[in-house]
Amino acid sequence: MSRLAVAGVVAVGEELLAGEHPDLDSPLIARALLPHGRQLAAVHVVPDDEQAIADAVTELATRVGLIFVTGGLGPTLDDVTRHGVARAAGVELRHSDEAWRGVQAWYARSGRDIPESNRRQALIPLGASVLHNRVGTAPGFRCRIGDAELFALPGPPRELEEMLDHEVDPWLRQHPLEGEHLAIHHFYLAGLSESVFAEQAGDWMERGSNPLIGCTVKSGVLHARLLAHAETPERAQALVDGRSRAFRERFKEHIFSEEDADPAHALGRVLLEKNLSVTCAESCTGGMVAAALTRVAGISAVFPGAEVTYSNQAKSRLLGVAPELLERHGAVSAPVAEAMARGAAQRYGARLALSVTGIAGPGGGSSEKPVGLVWFGVCLDGEVRTLERRWPPAGRERVRAWATTQALVLLLEAARRA
Ligand code: ATP
Repeated sequence: MSRLAVAGVVAVGEELLAGEHPDLDSPLIARALLPHGRQLAAVHVVPDDEQAIADAVTELATRVGLIFVTGGLGPTLDDVTRHGVARAAGVELRHSDEAWRGVQAWYARSGRDIPESNRRQALIPLGASVLHNRVGTAPGFRCRIGDAELFALPGPPRELEEMLDHEVDPWLRQHPLEGEHLAIHHFYLAGLSESVFAEQAGDWMERGSNPLIGCTVKSGVLHARLLAHAETPERAQALVDGRSRAFRERFKEHIFSEEDADPAHALGRVLLEKNLSVTCAESCTGGMVAAALTRVAGISAVFPGAEVTYSNQAKSRLLGVAPELLERHGAVSAPVAEAMARGAAQRYGARLALSVTGIAGPGGGSSEKPVGLVWFGVCLDGEVRTLERRWPPAGRERVRAWATTQALVLLLEAARRA
């Protein structure tokens, strides 16, 4: 990609370097740039130090077309972003009436007196233009550093997002890249590790491949992003469409959505569309599947409630699992998963019910039933299917998160069948 198409971020803040706070701003900027065919090439995290900010800005200006500086625009003496940028630009700071009116208006709206120290927020580098902040006190500014365009924006992610929408996006629209267009498509997959995915994707993931596939994994959901660039938007889209067709074919057993990163939302959409009632009976996930279901607004129309049955007694008493079954096969077994799913469906009068019973660890495993073994049951209109999964003993919370994602995906498959 050309220099103009790439951008850099300077995230300012001691708290980011002290590990107290992750940098949430650069992902927001990266996502705001993508629809305009631009990508982040570098992120510098620097302390609240004028020279460190100036150095990072100067360095980026030699290799990117767009620079974003986030944070350090407040009224206190350690907010030195404006000074650092002015130093990099080789200009003085000046008082901006426009910026000052913005700060005053913010205080007037919130019904508070304006502290004198806030005058500092009306300082911007000579030649810079003011960017309005509608949700906070800190105005931003835009200026040139050599051949690069620089945006200084407030650090709090909510304020940053608002300014990306109202100040940066319009500028990007007015300055389209000549002959460089991006197209993007997302796939969300489950039941596949990153390494197996990479193996099956093969050279689709090789650097320089166009479209290029990138992947990230979180709680058992693998997000694959297909990104193509070309001289025209149509050509970029055609490249992505072609690869998407091949991708669907290759990964059809694992793709659960092309819209929803959260399997609960993909599931909720189908359940509500079909007016399909659902419930679950959970052991090792302790209510995480039910909690995920309740992330979906309006789910009460199809989700009456669910059971957390941790002990054998609870499984028998609330779901009607026969004590002999528990005795003979153990709680983590196909027959018990099946009986739990059936019991939950009956108890709640739901057409669809899921059960999950497993060994999350760290204790409780055996050679026959190791930590990471989880059984699922899915009951749809009285017919039950069971599934066994064996995950590595990667820690209690990870096993529980993986099991939750798997449960939602199983429900989604069944709901689509229904
Ligand atoms: P304001 O004066 O409105 O607070 P600011 O630009 O001065 O804006 P900072 O003082 O640098 O912002 O940061 C304020 C808060 O914003 C920080 O305490 C932190 O919670 C959050 N913040 C700043 N930078 C980031 C970042 N890169 N990622 C996530 N949060 C951030």
